[in-house]
Amino acid sequence: MFVWPEAQTQFISEVVQSAPSDTSLYFVFQGNEILLRFDPQGQWQPLSTLADDFDKQKTQQHFMGRLAGVDCFAVETDLVNEKKGNLRMLAGKTDNLMFSIAGRATQILDWYRTHQFCGRCGIKAVSHKVDRAMVCPECKIHSYPRLSPSIITLVHDKNRILLARNHMFPKGMYSTLAGFVEPGESIEETLCREVKEEVGVNVAKLEYLGSQPWPFPNSLMLGFLAEYESGDIVLQEEEIADAQWFDVADLPDIPGKVAISRWIIDTYLERMGIDV
Ligand SMILES: [Zn+2]
Repeated sequence: MFVWPEAQTQFISEVVQSAPSDTSLYFVFQGNEILLRFDPQGQWQPLSTLADDFDKQKTQQHFMGRLAGVDCFAVETDLVNEKKGNLRMLAGKTDNLMFSIAGRATQILDWYRTHQFCGRCGIKAVSHKVDRAMVCPECKIHSYPRLSPSIITLVHDKNRILLARNHMFPKGMYSTLAGFVEPGESIEETLCREVKEEVGVNVAKLEYLGSQPWPFPNSLMLGFLAEYESGDIVLQEEEIADAQWFDVADLPDIPGKVAISRWIIDTYLERMGIDV
């Protein structure tokens, strides 16, 4: 079975650094933008040392855990003169493992930046000693990094699959359907509601495939296959620009291999005997 992503088996998450490793990796950001330095092959890598000038400009640093025994840190600095850009710019220019850890870093930094004060009583919060949490010394409320679970699903009907494009997609690009879980809802209810809302069809026989953290800004994508049951395509026009059934042997442009949407599509194509 295809395992997504490999980061889940190679990276060990920790909050407290027990003993420093000989080498470290630093995932360096300014605000939501990541430091862009590419090797001669055009591949992005985290920094293996934090130069003095970076260290002096550091505004926050968090130990994230270990990758094959090497300590990994999320760092925010004020490096105004360094080239930096959106994390999406790493897609295709680093492996899924590094992309995943960089995504973890930006979410931890953003959480810390936005939870400096208690949301209930407003006083200054402090870091929990052993957990990834900000704690109010007064009312003891704990604020953990926020995650937004979402479903992402491929609706299929034998040799055809339903793909859609939203108004922001590049021209000609189609993908799977996705949507956020609402309070009080099961994942299965979310999936059926989102598919019905966005394209008007009913689905059954849901099959969970796997998940992917998606740090734009804090989604956890839960990937499913869903079998078509009934109904014609009716677009939710504010959100969906177009949706169509496509023959599995004749697909439009679809997302790159860094995204779980592509993995879900490829998984189904393989089952239908199509090379991916
Ligand atoms: Zn409080």
